[in-house]
Amino acid sequence: MMIRNAEQVIKPGATIGILGGGQLGRMIALAGRAMGYRFVTMDPTPDSPCGQVCDHQVVAAFDDVAGARQLAEQSDVITYEFENVDAEVAAALEASSFVPQGSELLRITQNRIREKTMIASLGIPVAPFRVIASLDDLQRAAGELGLPLVMKTATGGYDGKGQAVLRKEADLADAFETLSRTGAELIVEQFIPFQKELSVIAARNLSGELATFPVAENIHRDNILHASIVPARASEQVIRAAEKMAATIAERLGVVGLIAVEMFLTADDRLYVNELAPRPHNSGHYTMDACITSQFEQHVRAVCNLPLGATTLLTPVVMVNILGEHLAPVLDRVETLPPNCKLHLYGKSESKAKRKMGHINVPAATVEEALAIINDLGIWERVED
Ligand code: AMP
Repeated sequence: MMIRNAEQVIKPGATIGILGGGQLGRMIALAGRAMGYRFVTMDPTPDSPCGQVCDHQVVAAFDDVAGARQLAEQSDVITYEFENVDAEVAAALEASSFVPQGSELLRITQNRIREKTMIASLGIPVAPFRVIASLDDLQRAAGELGLPLVMKTATGGYDGKGQAVLRKEADLADAFETLSRTGAELIVEQFIPFQKELSVIAARNLSGELATFPVAENIHRDNILHASIVPARASEQVIRAAEKMAATIAERLGVVGLIAVEMFLTADDRLYVNELAPRPHNSGHYTMDACITSQFEQHVRAVCNLPLGATTLLTPVVMVNILGEHLAPVLDRVETLPPNCKLHLYGKSESKAKRKMGHINVPAATVEEALAIINDLGIWERVED
């Protein structure tokens, strides 16, 4: 069914197709099912985390245009939970189905050069960067921007993969050689000596209504999100500025659905946007147990053009990720978890070190209390303040 009217509302009872069968799709489907929607997903792995809670899963690779068409035939609206959607697949879906998020946002966020150029063009600070095509370019960039630098592949990197920190002249040639082997375009950017990493998730529906979730303070370990602390421990002025940046990006890009905006905060209270993700985000999982509306329900509302839900924070909260290496200790403790530990597991059959298997949200009277509860579990190394 094709619906292209910006005022059109996709009402409960309709079927939502999700491209990608991971945990983000699973939590979108769980939230949408509670609202009365039906779900179908597409993922190459049968019985995917999302497929387990959908009416149906199309088992197909992400670049399988025929599989994507099959998904489209069963869906009144299509969304994605995975941003490396093949451009050809996205175009095929757009041609034959209703994809309110469109493919332009994917095109921008799949490439750091386009993403940073676009953010900077809105007058929002990003780490000064240069595109690198040769070792000469890199040496020139080091001269202009100074060391240290962070070198990244423009496409395909996540959780710190495809990155190198260049601290001294002697690092340049090696890093260039290693990262050029990926075949991806490369950029280098100034190393921002940040004090904290923050993120804001903004939602916008087809009618243009916009809402932002409370700012999260994020702690990474080995480049993977470890914990989100909300409210973020930053000044009121920083919080307002972070929310405003996310709202500006959502508005000016004409986002439909969610956009997660990751930022660095420096000791002198300056904010730099680092990265965007056009989907629900790990740093927004806290909303499931601490906000009136979760990011997943909000995503469903936005793509179905329902009015957005209230994003009010009901309680301080800390979210902690359960990676493969944490799963057994969590399951050992499952009968004795304190009563405000809200456990979410993603139904992944294979547990590997560093793989995201679930998370725990701990709503408490203060974030310090929530951190103490998590630290007392003894499963993770202590979160330092
Ligand atoms: P990214 O893949 O861009 O999200 O980067 C992964 C992590 O590397 C970030 O969460 C930061 O901890 C670190 N990082 C990335 N870019 C920079 C930068 N320009 N300055 C300092 N740290 C960075």
